[in-house]
Amino acid sequence: MPGFSLFPLQNNFVHSSLILNIKEALNLIHMKQVFIPLMALVLFACQPKEKKMYVSSLPDIQQKVEEFKTVKLTTDLSALSEKEQQMLPYLFEAAKIMDDLFWKQSWGDKDELLNNTADENLKKFMVINYGPWERLNNNESFVDSIGEKPKGVNFYPADMTKEEFEAFDGEGKDGLYTIIKRNEAGALEVVPYNVAYREELNKAADLLRKAAALAEDEGLKKYLELRADAFLSNDYFASDMAWMSMKTNTIDFVVGPIENYEDALFGYKAAFESFILIKDKEWSDKLTRFAALLPELQKSLPVDAAYKSEVPGSDSDLGAYDALFYGGDCNSGSKTIAINLPNDPEVQLQKGSRKLQLKNSMRAKFDHILVPISQVLINPEQQQHVKFDAFFENTMFHEVAHGLGIKNTINGKGDVRTSLKDTYSSIEEAKADILGLFMVKQLVEMGELSNHDLMDNYVTFVAGIFRSVRFGAASAHGKANMMRFNYFEEQGAFSYNAERGYYTVDFDKMTEAMNALSADILVMQGNGDYETAQKMLADLGVIRPALQKDLDRIAKAGIPRDIVFEQGPEVLGLK
Ligand SMILES: [Zn+2]
Repeated sequence: MPGFSLFPLQNNFVHSSLILNIKEALNLIHMKQVFIPLMALVLFACQPKEKKMYVSSLPDIQQKVEEFKTVKLTTDLSALSEKEQQMLPYLFEAAKIMDDLFWKQSWGDKDELLNNTADENLKKFMVINYGPWERLNNNESFVDSIGEKPKGVNFYPADMTKEEFEAFDGEGKDGLYTIIKRNEAGALEVVPYNVAYREELNKAADLLRKAAALAEDEGLKKYLELRADAFLSNDYFASDMAWMSMKTNTIDFVVGPIENYEDALFGYKAAFESFILIKDKEWSDKLTRFAALLPELQKSLPVDAAYKSEVPGSDSDLGAYDALFYGGDCNSGSKTIAINLPNDPEVQLQKGSRKLQLKNSMRAKFDHILVPISQVLINPEQQQHVKFDAFFENTMFHEVAHGLGIKNTINGKGDVRTSLKDTYSSIEEAKADILGLFMVKQLVEMGELSNHDLMDNYVTFVAGIFRSVRFGAASAHGKANMMRFNYFEEQGAFSYNAERGYYTVDFDKMTEAMNALSADILVMQGNGDYETAQKMLADLGVIRPALQKDLDRIAKAGIPRDIVFEQGPEVLGLK
């Protein structure tokens, strides 16, 4: 049959569910040669290649989406110079690339997922979760025929076991900026980020250089240039150091592979994210004076000298910012309201770390979530102690407290991060939570916080646990919160009135429990005690039935689960 190829027809028949089989088709060809091409066309048009559509496995996906309160991310742009305003479009574009890279790391092909989903609400929920697993519900799948979320997502091959990884002798296999793949022979292979994500990172580097060319602040200019270099070299040290040296910049841009929570298999791999931030100078000045007190606060920790022997960097600084964009990791699951960076222990030892408080998103969470929760669960007589200032302090000092304690074990087990393995993130968050509160108490005693009622911090702190504990056991923060809640309850730091259904904080017992838990965690970290950390998380890092009842009450009260952002140049009127 010259001039007539069977292949399109054949493919079509094979893939379609039409009754016609190949034999019948061939008969048709013999009988009506002229008619066949036309018929093939018709069949082709009627029977597009079978597509797999994603459908929700939950009864009411719209309600799931509505649990998120949408908040606009804006600020007063008149605080920016003309050139700073011109930088923003480049930053937004680079920030978006980080968002896309996180999709790639956590799920894979974003377009394939969204384009094959017809239900608009399901699509929205996928975007909120960066994939088909519900982050605020133990990463349960909400899409039909999608299995469990792989612990190592795309950082490791799906079929790789922990044992295989541990036996693998690959240089940089536990590095923050490498992924593990299988080569053609099926063996494990270490691939650095600048190779794995070359195209995207080249583009981002180019955008950062364009923004740097407009930067008037020398510190910001240098950081953006070095960050661009880091994308290409995969060595982030110099840019982290430069970021630490920025002091006078109004715009800040957190960008790159940063946190390791998404790697639930080992906690080694850094996930891509981005924040565009505008400094609130007034609040920042207020916060700066606390940074200088870190070494002194370290000395006051309630543990033996050996567990506080390292001197935290005193170059650390605290700043308050309004956020204009959250991209990637930090925009998935619960929204971060404070940042403590960089994570590189070497940079931390040399320069300390910077703490960025995201004031506009913090206020949104306090107003729309924390206050309504406290109205359900806190003794009405203690309601007046739920205050934004206390919430702000608790959150701020959580970040400062990451710099306290020690980074290296005291018994030669190496650094704390590596020796605590997969428990590290949860234990470190638990440490920061409890030491943050401990610090407020210390500062009150030191006379640094005048006219201060510590009870505000305690009650707001307990109300804050209910807010965070609703995230379930999936995140490091969630586990840390549950650990603290169960520990406090066992120590009598608060009591529960079952008849009225509310909690009452006991000031003195709360203080005792706080000191005891601080000591337990600092010692566990200093000893690099993986077994105790595992046991503590297994025993305490869980939601017990009594608490679940209260969480169900919160769920029924119609309080938003979290916030999501309307963000980007359009929201700011830049486009
Ligand atoms: Zn933290």
